[in-house]
Amino acid sequence: MKILFIASEMVPYAKTGGLADVAGALPKALAALGHEVVVIMPKYKMEGNFEFERVYDNFPVQMLHSIEYAGVYKAKGTDKNLTVFFISNAKYFDREGLYQVRGIDFPDNCERFSFFCKAVMEYFKKSLFFPEVLHANDWQTALAIAYAKNIYNWKKTALVYSVHNLGYLGIFPKEQILQTGFDWNMFTPDALEFYDNLALAKAGFVFADVICTVSETYAKEIQTKEFGHGLDGLLRSRKDNLFGILNGIDYDVWDPEHDKQIVKNYNSSEINLKYANKKALQKANGLPQKQSIPLIGMITRLADQKGFDILSEALDNIMNLKCQLVVLGTGDQKYHSLLQEAKKKHPNNIGINLGFDSALAQLIYAGSDMFLMPSRYEPCGLGQLISFKYGAIPIVRKTGGLADTVHDYNPTTGKGDGFVFEEYSSDKLLDAVKRAIEMYENKKEWASIVKKVMCYDYSWKQSAAKYIDLYRKTLQKL
Ligand code: ADP
Repeated sequence: MKILFIASEMVPYAKTGGLADVAGALPKALAALGHEVVVIMPKYKMEGNFEFERVYDNFPVQMLHSIEYAGVYKAKGTDKNLTVFFISNAKYFDREGLYQVRGIDFPDNCERFSFFCKAVMEYFKKSLFFPEVLHANDWQTALAIAYAKNIYNWKKTALVYSVHNLGYLGIFPKEQILQTGFDWNMFTPDALEFYDNLALAKAGFVFADVICTVSETYAKEIQTKEFGHGLDGLLRSRKDNLFGILNGIDYDVWDPEHDKQIVKNYNSSEINLKYANKKALQKANGLPQKQSIPLIGMITRLADQKGFDILSEALDNIMNLKCQLVVLGTGDQKYHSLLQEAKKKHPNNIGINLGFDSALAQLIYAGSDMFLMPSRYEPCGLGQLISFKYGAIPIVRKTGGLADTVHDYNPTTGKGDGFVFEEYSSDKLLDAVKRAIEMYENKKEWASIVKKVMCYDYSWKQSAAKYIDLYRKTLQKL
């Protein structure tokens, strides 16, 4: 099958969150199943030693007030069956940040991603690779689905739209509809209008043949008022074509046995070696270097979604338990300040790292005993899957993909693999942390949970096969 995967970020080239992990790993897993896969993303100002080859001369893309030019590059040295292309345009993409700078969104995001999606469609008009499947991801690439359906007439292509987080819909003032190349006829509730604004994600929800999201529970949740972000009605109307497929993780990147960013490699039969990483992490965060004190890691966008309101209420009480907390994150300024205050108050209990740092993230997974995700909602969540592999036991709220992957530990039966709370409250969060810390005291039992979770297989293989099945069924219906 010929699959075109279009995304605004992808590991290792550019990342702000889980979408980049998915775009880096799912296409690879599809290619490993023998399919011909092309990934395409914008050519940002990228850090790292990547080698690109120019594959197509600049070609014109008609925008509202001007003609802009797109170049096409290809990454050198990717896997068999997998090609990664980049659309370049210095004006739109050669900037610090992908979507924003210092917490403020770029004002021309609608125009930038309209350009990107148009350029992709124009390029594939010229290319010899004609996709049987177009798989677009999140609002930045949703327009590609609408273009394929309404302008480019890709009647033989299965149009698949994945939503990785319904909290981000690509909302813009309504006048910007003209930037997309569509006219006011598209500004209706059954097309791109959303409460008198433009929502680019609707281009995917309305025009895709199938809609996917990243866990079965989240696929159900987004059809409810509580989690539907105002789109639950539309999503319920499309429920026969709405599917949840759990994300996997890429064990080429996430494996403590081979991870080059950590201090000491280890696997499930030598978990005592994990301690060297904990010690290094404690040292780097100015915390007492003690093996016996439980260390809770947290790596996250600092956003309301991730549970910071209940965490801030519970934080002093958590710090008063015998434990350490190391946080890596960036996002809302109010949470930056909150964490800075907490560090002043509890210097020996909390380590804060306010930024985006992939290498440090790997050390945190390796050095933590527990991994905290008190999310208000969580489409899939990758942190808990990565932390399983690194032997850090997740403490999570029961929602979305966290509900599908983490099961509350029952000391009587020995079943379960984490500490789960359901009600979204600081009390219940504190209670789950307390239970984890108590269990940690029982070294033998703790080691057996760690060993168990490190052997879990959340690789992409099974999920990739489910996507292929879905692509096939969608193609059959065209
Ligand atoms: P989301 O996509 O909502 O941000 P996920 O749990 O799906 O959350 O994925 C988050 C990914 O981003 C994980 O790979 C996590 O390790 C990584 N990550 C999040 N914040 C940071 C950060 N500040 N530095 C490094 N990696 C981060």
